[in-house]
Amino acid sequence: MNAQTVIKICQEKGISLSDFALSQESEQDNISKTEILTRFGQMLSVMETAARTARETPIHSVSGLTGGDAYLYEQRRKKRSLLGSTASKAVACALSCSEVNASMGRIVACPTAGSCGIVPAAVLSVQEEYDLPREAIVKGLICAGLVGQIIGEHACLAGAQGGCQAECGSASAMAAAAVVELLGGSPAQSFDAAAIAIKNSLGLVCDPVAGLVEIPCIKRNAGGVMNALTAADMALAGIVSRIPFDDTVDAMNRVGRQLPTALRETAAGGLATTKTGLELAETLKNR
Ligand code: SF4
Repeated sequence: MNAQTVIKICQEKGISLSDFALSQESEQDNISKTEILTRFGQMLSVMETAARTARETPIHSVSGLTGGDAYLYEQRRKKRSLLGSTASKAVACALSCSEVNASMGRIVACPTAGSCGIVPAAVLSVQEEYDLPREAIVKGLICAGLVGQIIGEHACLAGAQGGCQAECGSASAMAAAAVVELLGGSPAQSFDAAAIAIKNSLGLVCDPVAGLVEIPCIKRNAGGVMNALTAADMALAGIVSRIPFDDTVDAMNRVGRQLPTALRETAAGGLATTKTGLELAETLKNR
């Protein structure tokens, strides 16, 4: 399955991406659509809690390397933010989910734990701004899942395999497509948004300090959701991606294979081997 085929089917049948994904998953896994909607609803509940927890109370990671940033940012954005209400809420939610993950709390890996803040932050911030019903958000998540499934089939979703473009880049693409669907865009526009999001994160390396999913992962989730919202907004304006989604996934796959091992979750390159990154790793070792 690829995006081109999915868009064609959706256009012929006059259905949305989430309708397509719901039918496909129901047939593939032999479960009812109601059951699928219930499962996604449960995932949404976990996302809602993770997106709120670290904004309300400062929480810190088990290593002590990170924490408290979601709370700090929430305090600022309530008074003033450069970003406006939707984007600033998205940043706060992304930080919160990622800090919950770093503190070993409960999150939904979407597509991975390291990139768990991007999809929830995008859909929950848009939900608040547009006062969308919960059912619409559930359908947005189903749409995001379909995009992730296509990326997984044609490239990969793990930093160890394809660098952070495969994690945060894929999450941005999934979130961008979901937001377009939530706001009434077409399946083609959803995939344009996803393609733009991938293009904007192509080549992003995986370089976690001390091998922990904290630095730079937490802040990269904040950047990832901004990428998603920007891509969705452009697609909703009618801007198309000259390089179609399927081609961007192919490029991501090839770029991932070309990345040296040092930049694929080994903590042997990038930020992990900066002077400070190495010092932080050493401090943890000597504890
Ligand atoms: S830097 Fe690596 S571990 Fe961190 S979010 Fe990106 S892919 Fe995951």
